Amino acid sequence: MKKLVDEIKNTAKEIGRDINLMEVCGTHTQVISRFGIREILPKNIRLITGPGCPVCVTAQRDIDAIVRLALAGIPVATYGDALRVPGHFGSLDKAREHGAQVFDVYSVEDALELQKNIPELVFFGLGFETTTPMTAWGIQQGLTVYSAHKIFLPAMEALLKMGEIKIDGFIDPGHVSAVIGTHPYEKLKIPQVIAGFEMQDVLEGILLLLRQIKNQDLEVVNQYSRLVKNGGNDKMQKIISEVFEICDGEWRGFGVISKSGLKIKKKYAKFDAQVKYAKILDQVDFSHSHDPKGCNCGDVIRGLVESKKCPLFGKVCTPDNPVGPCMVSIEGACNVAYRYNK
Ligand code: SF4
Repeated sequence: MKKLVDEIKNTAKEIGRDINLMEVCGTHTQVISRFGIREILPKNIRLITGPGCPVCVTAQRDIDAIVRLALAGIPVATYGDALRVPGHFGSLDKAREHGAQVFDVYSVEDALELQKNIPELVFFGLGFETTTPMTAWGIQQGLTVYSAHKIFLPAMEALLKMGEIKIDGFIDPGHVSAVIGTHPYEKLKIPQVIAGFEMQDVLEGILLLLRQIKNQDLEVVNQYSRLVKNGGNDKMQKIISEVFEICDGEWRGFGVISKSGLKIKKKYAKFDAQVKYAKILDQVDFSHSHDPKGCNCGDVIRGLVESKKCPLFGKVCTPDNPVGPCMVSIEGACNVAYRYNK
């Protein structure tokens, strides 16, 4: 490991300027903080956390919509972190306190099991290409879903296009890459490394990025070839495209990103909660569906503000009392910063 760190230091010195590398995967964010990787890097190398946490990037509008469905008497199931995201109408957890039927599930199979006894159940599906295939399978089994699923690559494109922050290279998301493969990233024309999730993987990823930057290469290097194949996972890609079609998607921190969302295809419309409960959703006033007052989640997600610079961080906003989603999810930048800062 020391040899690797020394190589990073030497390469950074040869580059001789400030470098911003962005990780866009919540698991990488955790690994980087858990092992104190930022602290061992040379001063001119900065690691920035980007929009890698699926719960964090879920639009406030979708949180508010699913909470309204729950409050309207529709039973809702979803993954644990998503229950605690505060919205204009409260969180799903709060809705449960008010008598709504809200269930915490670990998997789509759990949701299908629940649905046997609660036929009206709606599964709140969110996340990127990693979780979408299981939701797609659930829909094929007859599970009703509110889809807030997203395609990841357009967010990376949006970050580069917006140009708010200088990004010299990306540590690409390992889990997403296992599904989509390496080729889709090539169009970004920026140094990238798909890295695994051990400390050594991340350090190797950083070194491979620095070497590209030094040599002015614009490649997608696959450090995680033990899991990520260049063509990705055919079966998972196929089931996603069977059940979902691409649409514009709304992201917290970005707004609408063209062709970044996934909606359920017409042939599965009877399992689409947004179609099935359109009458309820049409009556919801979404004009207050934005970040809570004082919360900087939008800027944190785009890498513009470090969690600790948010005035609410650790004072008003903690994992026990989260103000925004970045403090809720264990993959959220604020939650990670809070836990490992301590
Ligand atoms: S510390 Fe809390 S309020 Fe501030 S950006 Fe993070 S989640 Fe939002």
